[in-house]
Amino acid sequence: MGARKAAVVTGSTSGIGLGIAQALARAGMDVTLNGFGDAAAIEKIRSDLAAETGVEVRYDGANLMKAEDAMGLVTRAEAAFGQVDVLVNNAGIQHVSPIEDFPLEKWDQIIALNLSSSFWTIRAAFAGMKARKWGRIVNIASAHGLVASPFKGAYVAAKHGVLGLTKTVALEGAKDGVRCNAICPGYVLTPLVEGQIPDTMKARGMTREQVINDVLLAAQPTKEFVKVEDIAALTVFLTSEAANQFNGAAISLDGGWTVQ
Ligand code: NAD
Repeated sequence: MGARKAAVVTGSTSGIGLGIAQALARAGMDVTLNGFGDAAAIEKIRSDLAAETGVEVRYDGANLMKAEDAMGLVTRAEAAFGQVDVLVNNAGIQHVSPIEDFPLEKWDQIIALNLSSSFWTIRAAFAGMKARKWGRIVNIASAHGLVASPFKGAYVAAKHGVLGLTKTVALEGAKDGVRCNAICPGYVLTPLVEGQIPDTMKARGMTREQVINDVLLAAQPTKEFVKVEDIAALTVFLTSEAANQFNGAAISLDGGWTVQ
C-alpha cells in the first residue's frame, strides 16, 4: 500500500473535475485523471500537475457510459497505486429539451453517465475501501439534485438519483470508515454551461448578458457563478478527518438557490 492516499476523479480533463483533481494533488494525493479531449492537451495537464505537486498523476480514458469501462477505471487505478482511497464521481453531460421531444438516446446517455457510472465506480471501489477501513466518496450532484428546472428531465432525474445512491452508500459504509457525500453546486461557468448559452440566446432571442443574468443566474440570489475552486476546496475538506461525521449529506453550494 502506498504511503500517499490515491484518488480517482471522473471527468477530470475539464471544468469542475479538473479543478478537483488539481486540488487533491496539491493536498498530496496521487491522482487518476479521466475524461475525453485532445491527447496532447490531456498529457500536458497530467505532466504539469505531476511536476507542480510531486505526486503521481496518471490518465485513464475510460468511457464511463459503459459499465465495464467504469469498473475498469477503478481496478486499473488500484493496480497502479495499490488502492483507491478517494473516489470523486464528477463526469456528467447535459441535454435540454421538452419531454415530448426528448431524444431517447440522450435520456439513456445521461442516465448512464450522470447516474449509473457512479454506481459502477462505487461498486468497484467499495470492497477495498471497506477492507482498509477508510474511504471517501464524493459525488458531484447539482442543485438539480434537489429541485427541477423545465427541459432538463434526464439531468434532473439522474441528479436526484445520485442523492439516493449517496445516502444508501453512506449507510452501507458507515461502520467501515467509508464516507459518501454529495455536493450540489449551482451554476459554474464551465464548458458544460458555456455550451448552453448560444442555444438559449437563439431560443429566447436574448443577448449573452441576458441569458447569464435572467436565465442562468435567475434563481441564484448571489448573482454570482459558483467557482470551480469553491467545489474543489469543499471536496478536499470532505476527504479530511475533520469531515468524518459528514455521511450521506447533500451539501448545497449554490448561493442560496435551493433555500427559496
Ligand atoms: P465539463 O463538460 O466541463 O466536464 C465534463 C467532464 O466529463 C470532461 O472531463 C469530459 O471529458 C468528461 N466526460 C464526458 N463524457 C464522458 C464519458 N462518457 N466518460 C468519461 N468522461 C466523460 O462539465 P462540468 O461543468 O465541469 O461538470 C462536471 C460535473 O458537475 C457534472 O456532473 C455536472 O453535472 C456537474 N455540475 C455542473 C454545474 C455547472 O454549472 N457547470 C453545476 C452543477 C453540477
